[in-house]
Amino acid sequence: MRILVIEDEKKIASFIKRGLKEEGYVVDTASDGEEGHFVATTHEFDLIILDLMLPKLDGITLCKKLRDENIKTPVIMLTAKSGTQDKIKGLDIGADDYVTKPFDFQELLARTRTHLRKRESSSTQLQVADLTVNLLTHKVERAGLEIILTSKEFILLQYLIRNRDTVVTRTMISEHAWDINFDISSNVIDVYINYLRHKIDEQHPKKLIKTIRGRGYLLEG
Ligand code: CA
Repeated sequence: MRILVIEDEKKIASFIKRGLKEEGYVVDTASDGEEGHFVATTHEFDLIILDLMLPKLDGITLCKKLRDENIKTPVIMLTAKSGTQDKIKGLDIGADDYVTKPFDFQELLARTRTHLRKRESSSTQLQVADLTVNLLTHKVERAGLEIILTSKEFILLQYLIRNRDTVVTRTMISEHAWDINFDISSNVIDVYINYLRHKIDEQHPKKLIKTIRGRGYLLEG
């Protein structure tokens, strides 16, 4: 799950980023409305956390612009306590929710989960062959045996399963499972795929993760 945080106050932005990363989300940040618009329209996100008071382009205008451009990513607005009009306006033009500043991180996290869950199918479990992934508890099992994954491996596996039977390229993986500063020329993705393969496939005759030479990877099931 990849989240974009558009917030000009550096302290708040890094506080949100750190907290969400600890929860296993991939987080990018933008520090003004124009940058936010650029990043939101050039990359795919599962959720946008949008401060309303932003330089260059304010949050309400930005949100309206995104909706006009048919970008339907859920938006949680960060609003000032006194900004009742902003909240109404924001919800009217297509934001999904708001959190009032100063906010408690747990509250923001709860809202984040709610909107991400809505985006997922009603099921909390993904399954491929004898591999099961619980999206709430992050418990992964193959043939009934628990597999312990790091949060990065978990994000990667989740992405592969959601795109099962489709070849995913390194670019696609970097777009969804790594943040924007990721260097695609490095072999980090291959390294992580190998970790994952070792944990998921090594002890089983049926291999789920396949390398498609020159193209990318495929999870078959
Ligand atoms: Ca601000």
